[in-house]
Amino acid sequence: MSEKTIKINLTGLDQSELEKFVAELPEIKFRSRQLFSWIYQKKATDFAQMSDLSLPLRRKLAAVAEIGLLALVEKSISPQSGSTKYLFSLQDGRRIESVYIPEKDRRTLCISSQVGCALGCRFCATGTLGFTRNLSAGEIVDQVLFAERDQMLEITNVVFMGMGEPFMNTDAVLQAAALINHADGLAIGSRHIVISTVGIVPAIERFTAEKHRYKLAVSLHAATDEKRVQIVPIARKYPLAQLMTALHAYYEKSGRRPTIEYALLAGFNDSKADAIALQKLLRSLPCKINLIPYNPAVAGFERPSPERVDAFAAWLAQMPAAVSVRWSQGDDINAACGQLAARTQERQ
Ligand code: SAH
Ligand code: SF4
Repeated sequence: MSEKTIKINLTGLDQSELEKFVAELPEIKFRSRQLFSWIYQKKATDFAQMSDLSLPLRRKLAAVAEIGLLALVEKSISPQSGSTKYLFSLQDGRRIESVYIPEKDRRTLCISSQVGCALGCRFCATGTLGFTRNLSAGEIVDQVLFAERDQMLEITNVVFMGMGEPFMNTDAVLQAAALINHADGLAIGSRHIVISTVGIVPAIERFTAEKHRYKLAVSLHAATDEKRVQIVPIARKYPLAQLMTALHAYYEKSGRRPTIEYALLAGFNDSKADAIALQKLLRSLPCKINLIPYNPAVAGFERPSPERVDAFAAWLAQMPAAVSVRWSQGDDINAACGQLAARTQERQ
């Protein structure tokens, strides 16, 4: 009988999972902390690099385990902004994208949580792909490890705003976020990790109950259910009343203000009446408001003029909430918010 060795991939394992792994290898026992730091802090790609482990130990590890889950397929760099879009192939040939966004005071990586997305928001390129599968915690955290090695810089901020709905893959997203945040891991502060959700109410409630300290952003895009269901189909399942109750509870229990994301779509949600409805809805919720002028991605939706974007922000000015306009970078390489639509599978 031929012997087939299936190697265990260590990327994405947390400390207790690594402990379990080494417990079965007598020679490596007690080395799980070293392994953890080699994988997440020193970002090793090969056991041969692990210089504080003996040579026989490194060989043993290489025989039973491996590190890394992503293969780079393509890298596009925006001449305008220096933003870099990575197209990765996963071990099953599926594909995802991440975007590196350099700014004066921070270096952000926008990462994916799923291959495609099942929720089909009408204006979103990922939404048009449909859903293929969830990413594992390893596939999520490896996007950050890969970008840090490639840029030869430390990422300062991570946003779950790439492909997929993080709160439809909550376990893996939270495990990955913990590794990204861990002091002996990537050590990115919890306030520099943003989880953006379309508004999956039970997952927001879990996030609140478990007292996670990452920033919470919620994609609203419309201030009435009647309007919202036209572009965000999942709003039928989680209407605004439920969503707002969950957000008030989040604020009350955490003391943290959620960010409300509002993609400005010309002629759909950018009128003065829309701004007034938004004010009314958010009046009693301490929050921040992020206006995202639409990035062309799906036919039928357009970006309002810069004057209209300014006017919309001004109409919200009486609100206590801080309102900011986020002009995404990287649209010249289709890497701006909502433009990620990697073909989900390698061509045969
Ligand atoms: N699934 C999550 C994360 C996705 S993307 C969510 O929906 O929140 C992050 C933000 O970009 C969301 O607010 C999303 O609605 C918005 N977005 C999607 N497509 C866009 C586009 N083409 N232009 C501008 N924003 C877009
Ligand atoms: Fe999915 Fe978010 Fe795109 Fe909606 S906006 S389809 S939830 S990725």
